[in-house]
Amino acid sequence: MSVAGLPATMQAAVLDRGAQRFAVVERPLPVPQPGELLLRVRACGVCRTDLHIVDAELPPHRDPLVPGHQIVGDVVAGATPDRPLGMRVGVSWIASTDGSCAFCRRGSENLCDALRFTGYDVDGGYAQYAAARADFTYPLHERLDDVHAAPLLCAGIIGFRALRVAGVERGERVGLYGFGSSAHLMVPVLRAWDCTVYVATRGENHRTFAASLGFDWVGDATDVPPQTLDRAVTFAPSGDVVVAALAALRKGGVVAINAIHLDRIPQFDYDRLLWGERQLRSVANMTRADARDFLELAARLDLQPQATTFPLARAADALAAVRNDAIDGAAVVVPG
Ligand SMILES: [Zn+2]
Ligand SMILES: [Zn+2]
Repeated sequence: MSVAGLPATMQAAVLDRGAQRFAVVERPLPVPQPGELLLRVRACGVCRTDLHIVDAELPPHRDPLVPGHQIVGDVVAGATPDRPLGMRVGVSWIASTDGSCAFCRRGSENLCDALRFTGYDVDGGYAQYAAARADFTYPLHERLDDVHAAPLLCAGIIGFRALRVAGVERGERVGLYGFGSSAHLMVPVLRAWDCTVYVATRGENHRTFAASLGFDWVGDATDVPPQTLDRAVTFAPSGDVVVAALAALRKGGVVAINAIHLDRIPQFDYDRLLWGERQLRSVANMTRADARDFLELAARLDLQPQATTFPLARAADALAAVRNDAIDGAAVVVPG
């Protein structure tokens, strides 16, 4: 079965664990189910979580799978009054929730018991077409172009959620531990809030990039900044970094861990590092409210994240670039 007026097949980058292969293949277009839109993909950002999925650091949920959960696409089928044909929308990490569990009812849909994830439980955007539940898509402001909007859709939204979880207030001293796509997107947000930003990151490339943006302080991943921090967000999948962030915190400060996967958290000194009502919190997923609030702010601030594009045929290279910290800012796959 195919969708009227559209080609029967498309190119898609497919992770096939059975065949131990990640390759671009021809496959049928997704058929949108009731409540779903079919999107023609304009761009899809590469997220570090895609690496965890492709590298099997996260357990498989679907095989074969089209990864990718920062999708910018045009509605080509399944249109609704709110999402008419031709509308450009974004899709993020949360593909759907049940809307009925205790977490959804208390407004914490990011913790839903039945969460399904884009590019993990359902096929994602490393493809020419993708299906997505209409009520989990976000109309995109015209000021946000495709390539620059894509990295906002997970890296940006979840980074923004991390700032909320850390409780960042105007004018505070905020540490960013790790300086990949998500962290660098938070810089204009923090500057708009008059915060002082401290960056600690491994890798000479990331430090040079961060220094070029004119921060007061740029250090190695576990260096201690010259002032105590009010808040810190860790982006690196490393427990050593979490402990380093804790060590930089004032009393009552918060470390928000923005990582879906950590190697482990080493033993640390409670009396010195956590006592004093310091808090260690994790950041899980995102809500649609986070997405809407952040995308509105991004349009207002005219966020233009640094991005490197890769054609769909080079999706594996885009993942490798993120894996190897080979590019500044975000990698974005463009199906063309
Ligand atoms: Zn739920
Ligand atoms: Zn992501």
